[in-house]
Amino acid sequence: MSITGYAAVAPKAALEKFSYEPEPLGPLDIEIAISHCGLCHSDIHLINDDWGVSDYPFIPGHEVVGTIRKTGPGVTVLKAGDRVAVGWQRGSCLSCEWCLGGDENLCANNKATCVGHHGGFADAIRLDHRFAYKLPDTLDSADAAPLMCAGITVYSPLREFGVRPSSRVGIIGVGGLGHLAIQFAAAFGCEVTAFSSTADKEQEARHFGAHNFVVSTDPDQIAGVAGTQDVILSTINNDLEWGGYINALRPKGTLVFLGVPPSSISVHAFTLIMGRKAIAGSPIGGRPAMREMLEFAARHDIKARTEVMPMADINKAIDKVRKNEARYRIVLANPA
Ligand SMILES: [Zn+2]
Ligand SMILES: [Zn+2]
Repeated sequence: MSITGYAAVAPKAALEKFSYEPEPLGPLDIEIAISHCGLCHSDIHLINDDWGVSDYPFIPGHEVVGTIRKTGPGVTVLKAGDRVAVGWQRGSCLSCEWCLGGDENLCANNKATCVGHHGGFADAIRLDHRFAYKLPDTLDSADAAPLMCAGITVYSPLREFGVRPSSRVGIIGVGGLGHLAIQFAAAFGCEVTAFSSTADKEQEARHFGAHNFVVSTDPDQIAGVAGTQDVILSTINNDLEWGGYINALRPKGTLVFLGVPPSSISVHAFTLIMGRKAIAGSPIGGRPAMREMLEFAARHDIKARTEVMPMADINKAIDKVRKNEARYRIVLANPA
């Protein structure tokens, strides 16, 4: 049976209705009837071929939620009818030191859900069940979809960079990633400072759990928080005066890049040496982090603020994200 979705047929073109014959269901594969798929900025980059890895036509979408309708004979831990979700990654070698350590996202052979494969803006998807995650019952499907990419992207570095309940965590950007990062860090018990270029986001940031709010482009305000942050997560894709943020770190603090500013990052090495500070980056998360993140989100009622649109409106949704009008994540829904 063929799978129907919405495909990019050329760089920057509007998506078009598109059907394909899936690969035969392998022994460890499942077929998911998709109910929801979140729209991520990475989908737009793939549609544009900004990263030079897009192979047209392809169906984007990597924040997939749905119900299993077929399982290969080797699948024992999931069954038809289970509600599952898939994120950016659909596979890895599962045998290298990184995979064996639960860092499948760092595997040299990691496979992306919608690069070289068709993704989630479709009625179904087939993939290795080991990269599909059973959703806790209390997580709503639409709310959960953005957790699969945006959620894990902000959750994993909180765990990897030693954040503890006593930590002071800064989040740069109150958007798709940032509004989830604030919720996770607040639920960890941290003192959370939100940094945004938009002063009128203060109320929303505080609503998500931020204790402090700083206007990210105001040098006086940045100077005012010197030496206060243990970990700062930057979720934005803009250039900032990064030296001010290194200065905002406490000794042993780390500035972690999750978004990609257009320019190279330049700071004076001396500002890192004194205080033993670090600059780092972090991509999504491994399978153990995925499972833990979903359980943590369910327990602490962490969810993306979403705007749900019909799957058929995918091009309208893409337009909104291109214009930066999404508040905060758009999720496309198939007819029930
Ligand atoms: Zn994504
Ligand atoms: Zn591996």
